[in-house]
Amino acid sequence: MLVNATEMLRKARDGKYAVGQFNINNLEWTKAILATAQEVKSPVILGVSEGAGKYMTGYATVVAMVKAMDVSLGITVPVALHLDHGSYDGCKKCLDAGFSSIMFDGSHFEIGENVAKTTELVALAHAQGVSIEAEVGAIGGEEDGIIGTGEVADPGECKKIASLGVDFLAAGIGNIHGVYPSNWKGLNFEVLAQIHEMTGDIPLVLHGGTGIPPDMIKKAVSLGVSKINVNTECQIAFTAATRKYIEAGKDKESKGFDPRKLLAPGTDAIKATVREKIELFGSAGKA
Ligand SMILES: [Zn+2]
Repeated sequence: MLVNATEMLRKARDGKYAVGQFNINNLEWTKAILATAQEVKSPVILGVSEGAGKYMTGYATVVAMVKAMDVSLGITVPVALHLDHGSYDGCKKCLDAGFSSIMFDGSHFEIGENVAKTTELVALAHAQGVSIEAEVGAIGGEEDGIIGTGEVADPGECKKIASLGVDFLAAGIGNIHGVYPSNWKGLNFEVLAQIHEMTGDIPLVLHGGTGIPPDMIKKAVSLGVSKINVNTECQIAFTAATRKYIEAGKDKESKGFDPRKLLAPGTDAIKATVREKIELFGSAGKA
């Protein structure tokens, strides 16, 4: 059964660990992440970007697949199905489709408009028992053409958005999406500490979890980060394992061209990555 992410993240905040959000792209991704979370007894959040939702032929397909798989795999750990970086319309569509959690990314709006739209979506989400994440201060990355430096959120704006009733808050603290460049300056813990102090006990979200050194992850968790998003790292692991399989000529041996065989090494690589992250974040055994 899908649950919203509020309770699992409050527990994480109180227990000083973080729950991983792992983005899904297809059946293999979903299966790998759910099975691993179950194996290590960890709560888990399945992230779906609007692009991935479209790729999987729509949010209704995603909900049907995840709900059915949760049952067929005998999953007993808490699982939230979460829209990642949702637009205003995307959030409404996911509420209709049966997602248990949404993120409204209004960070590109002026703060006044971000406040207005976030307020409206908080009411809609909570009326359905769905949790909602908001964002302050855009998180950089290749997709916005910002390379090398992530943006840093204004703690005052974080306080304003946190007070609207959102369940957890994403704030830029120098983190970026995608692979971190070699000249990356690291996370800004001074700002994270200020945000944590000004927003009270709201669980904070760290986007762009791929490639942040383990000591920085641990320090961020100690400063109120309760949810960490991982996307790129699973993609890199999947692709590297698939490349190795093909370059070794395995697809030409026996029935190695069977997609169930071809996709197996990549799926196993996602499992290994998810397991490693769950252990680093400290959520293993917490479900
Ligand atoms: Zn993000």
